[in-house]
Amino acid sequence: MSDENPSEMPQRPGLRLAGFTTGSRVNGPGRRIVLWARGCDLACPGCFNPHTWAPDGPTEPLDALVARIVDARAGHDGVTFSGGEPFQQAPALAEIARRVAAAWPEGRFMAFTGYRLETLRSADAPPGSAALLRQLDWLVDGPYDPRRPSRRRWRASAGQRLWVVGRPLPSDAFAGDPIDAELHVSPEGDVLLSGFPDARLRRAVRRL
Ligand code: SF4
Repeated sequence: MSDENPSEMPQRPGLRLAGFTTGSRVNGPGRRIVLWARGCDLACPGCFNPHTWAPDGPTEPLDALVARIVDARAGHDGVTFSGGEPFQQAPALAEIARRVAAAWPEGRFMAFTGYRLETLRSADAPPGSAALLRQLDWLVDGPYDPRRPSRRRWRASAGQRLWVVGRPLPSDAFAGDPIDAELHVSPEGDVLLSGFPDARLRRAVRRL
């Protein structure tokens, strides 16, 4: 029998989560599970996701998130971390990726970040950035700039770059026409617009 007092045991970290979806085809190569982290202080002008900036609110236990991803993995090619700013919760996401990869070695990991890769590899990087980068295969980096829209796959503005930081991209990663945006409707009727929608589509979905 343990004599540890549970109230004195260290709490396992959780993740501040803004959203979770499966079956996404717009957030990286193939069919993907997507986690949107909550909290971002980079404040890119014209950001698509200002509702994810506030870091307050409850956290999701990592055990539950890992189980949710592993349970959902059939028919998917990997996991994408978006936000909010994933690297402002890098230790939690690195642990999620490490544990999911142990159960799903074929899964490929990708992240969208408003930081530049050079910053993430520097002494100014948010804590845990190196650990998260080690778990990733692909990264889209750099701040969003609405004055420089981009039609390149997975990049919303021209200064953003696609990096291979782990395993190579699939040979068919750029096949077919790129998908700009997708709508997810939950069983409760919540509507989630994801991807790189133009302003007209964003306004139309907000009216929904
Ligand atoms: S990093 Fe992403 S979530 Fe944060 S302000 Fe920029 S575009 Fe928005």
